[in-house]
Amino acid sequence: MVSSAVTEPKRVVVVGAGWAGLGSAYHLAQQGYDVTLLEAGNHPGGLVAGWQTAGGKSVEAGIHGFWYPYNNIFSLVEELGIQPFTPFTRSAQYSPAGLEVESPLFQDMPPLPSPLGTFVYTQFKRLPLADRLSALPLLYAVVDFDNSDEAWRRYDGVTARELFRQFGVSARLYKEAFEPMLLVGLFAPGEQCSAAAALGMLYFFILAHQADFDVKWCRGTVGAQIFRPWVQKIEQAGGRVLSQKRVSDVRVDEQIRSPASFVARRYSRLRR
Ligand SMILES: Cc1cc2nc3c(=O)[nH]c(=O)nc-3n(C[C@H](O)[C@H](O)[C@H](O)COP(=O)(O)OP(=O)(O)OC[C@H]3O[C@@H](n4cnc5c(N)ncnc54)[C@H](O)[C@@H]3O)c2cc1C
Repeated sequence: MVSSAVTEPKRVVVVGAGWAGLGSAYHLAQQGYDVTLLEAGNHPGGLVAGWQTAGGKSVEAGIHGFWYPYNNIFSLVEELGIQPFTPFTRSAQYSPAGLEVESPLFQDMPPLPSPLGTFVYTQFKRLPLADRLSALPLLYAVVDFDNSDEAWRRYDGVTARELFRQFGVSARLYKEAFEPMLLVGLFAPGEQCSAAAALGMLYFFILAHQADFDVKWCRGTVGAQIFRPWVQKIEQAGGRVLSQKRVSDVRVDEQIRSPASFVARRYSRLRR
């Protein structure tokens, strides 16, 4: 809280203008702090930042979905007064052989106790029933993993690949359903992810509530649709967003035990 007795607002420097940095800068600026957000890249946005081709076309890396549990982002766009998203959409998964899996809009389906809805309503187009049924024993781990610290400790010592193997998930089901999910959700194959990370991801995106796998998409690049108006709001609240400022050092004032200055690329220095 900013004390009314303090005439000058406290100065805060936030490093990195991804979702996290923009969110921090936005809330701090709204609360009256004097905020400077320093970004190393050319534009705010971090991993979602896009760019324009020589011909003026907007490009961004990868696809960026916004799933049902993203309440913070859905409240943010309401607060900004923008409507960047499609409605919730159905999802499908294709392999080189064709359509493999189709998911309905889970929020429209009759609710079943979690995680049954996910398993019952997902339509596997090519996968034989025996392979699909091989996921059933995995339900034990899914129900057992309650996302608590203790559960994370219990499952963190095993790889995701090992977990699926131990619970008897067939090689084909793993290859055609679970491995693509891990690659999209955790950016790594099952051999490189812990079982806890895999279960945590499945829990957050798919299993905690029936509707969790429903997803919205941005009508355009996230940079143009969300980050640009967001940065404007930060600036309207008195904050500064500076690009091409890679922070390379933080100097601490030993007496007050607080950062005294930030050294950014091109040796521009912001003093407390
Ligand atoms: C291809 C791809 C697809 C994705 N798809 C989805 C999706 O569909 N849905 C989803 O929810 N998530 C998705 N993600 C993940 C999502 O993009 C990230 O989780 C999110 O962007 C992380 O935000 P962040 O603010 O934590 O970090 P980042 O986005 O990494 O931002 C960090 C920022 O800090 C800056 N920085 C770092 N060091 C310094 C320094 N020393 N000085 C100044 N600046 C610095 C960086 O330049 C960067 O701009 C995807 C990611 C990728 C790469």
